[in-house]
Amino acid sequence: MAWKAVIARVSSVRRGAAGLARPGVQRCGPPVPRPGRLGGPLAVLVLFLAALAAGAADTCDICGQALPARFLESGGRSFCSQACYRRTLPVCATCGQVVSGRHLVQGGRHYCSDACFERTLPTCALCGKALRESFTVEGRTYCRAHAEGPRCDACSRPVEGGETLADGRVVCAGCRPSLVFDRGEAAELYARARRMLAVALGEALPPAPPLHLVGLDALPEHRGLEAAVSVRELGRYQRETVTTTTRNLFGRVLREETEVSRRILMLYGLPADSFLSTAVHELTHDLLAERYPRFDERAPEWAKEGLCQYTAAVVCRRLGCGDVVAEIENAPDAVYGDGYRWWARRFGPAGWDGIRRWLEQGDGAALPDRAPAPPPR
Ligand SMILES: [Zn+2]
Ligand SMILES: [Zn+2]
Ligand SMILES: [Zn+2]
Ligand SMILES: [Zn+2]
Ligand SMILES: [Zn+2]
Repeated sequence: MAWKAVIARVSSVRRGAAGLARPGVQRCGPPVPRPGRLGGPLAVLVLFLAALAAGAADTCDICGQALPARFLESGGRSFCSQACYRRTLPVCATCGQVVSGRHLVQGGRHYCSDACFERTLPTCALCGKALRESFTVEGRTYCRAHAEGPRCDACSRPVEGGETLADGRVVCAGCRPSLVFDRGEAAELYARARRMLAVALGEALPPAPPLHLVGLDALPEHRGLEAAVSVRELGRYQRETVTTTTRNLFGRVLREETEVSRRILMLYGLPADSFLSTAVHELTHDLLAERYPRFDERAPEWAKEGLCQYTAAVVCRRLGCGDVVAEIENAPDAVYGDGYRWWARRFGPAGWDGIRRWLEQGDGAALPDRAPAPPPR
């Protein structure tokens, strides 16, 4: 009810103003705004003399009171006072002050100053600068300089300062305390990875190969991996057959002994969940080499790497490491990623019994050079 009444009054004021404005004002001199009240941004207002406003009963568009002898008009609306007029002005979306004159409007919001506008901008997670151009990395916002600068090796986020490891990798202060550098901690995680793998597969593992914590500089190049596959390796299984020949003084061979040496290299400075999944991956290489040599010696690289990723995913699912599992499942490359997905498609997420039978009977050499693509949906 009240709303209807106000609308009616507004339209009557508009009618009066439209009909009278020009001739009326001119007859009584220019409509100079009163100094101190209508200067500056309010200069657009036209001041009316009530005597010329025919509708003496007209009312203020805001408060509804009868218009006094001198009133204000703007945009076809009449106001009894500056205070009522100011109530029609936008307010700064940041500080709430009334905004008038030239000012910034962005996305339908008004801002009294650049400073107030900048307070609405996202800021760089590292330097705190307000960003008119921002970059999102791993769910956080950064300025260009930080987005394009060095990244933490553990969390992949831009890093300021941080710590440079002996092999040149950089880690951020946030990640540093939770990374595995300590040999004792590494040995514990390694033993845990072995236990988890044995339980997940339901079979005893070969004796543990010795574990070595190494830097990136000590991880040898991965032979047999296509150059196009740009995968950051976090560990390596090494296996060598060493033949020792014993001869007598005359050079006659007395004895020949072959010995297999196995070891697992793990990068130092990994987060614990990456360490565990990498250890499971490398331990699976050892299991394949020791127990399923026919497959290990003949299968293409994607089948072996994919299967090691498969067991890592099985263990990580049991550990609740969803991020690592998602990383394995969604790896875009044709060896680790496509390889994993081939095994997962063929045997399901917990299909080690089927895989074991396949490894015992199947022929790794019969697999194609590249992981077969999934059937079209
Ligand atoms: Zn009023
Ligand atoms: Zn403001
Ligand atoms: Zn920055
Ligand atoms: Zn980090
Ligand atoms: Zn591997």
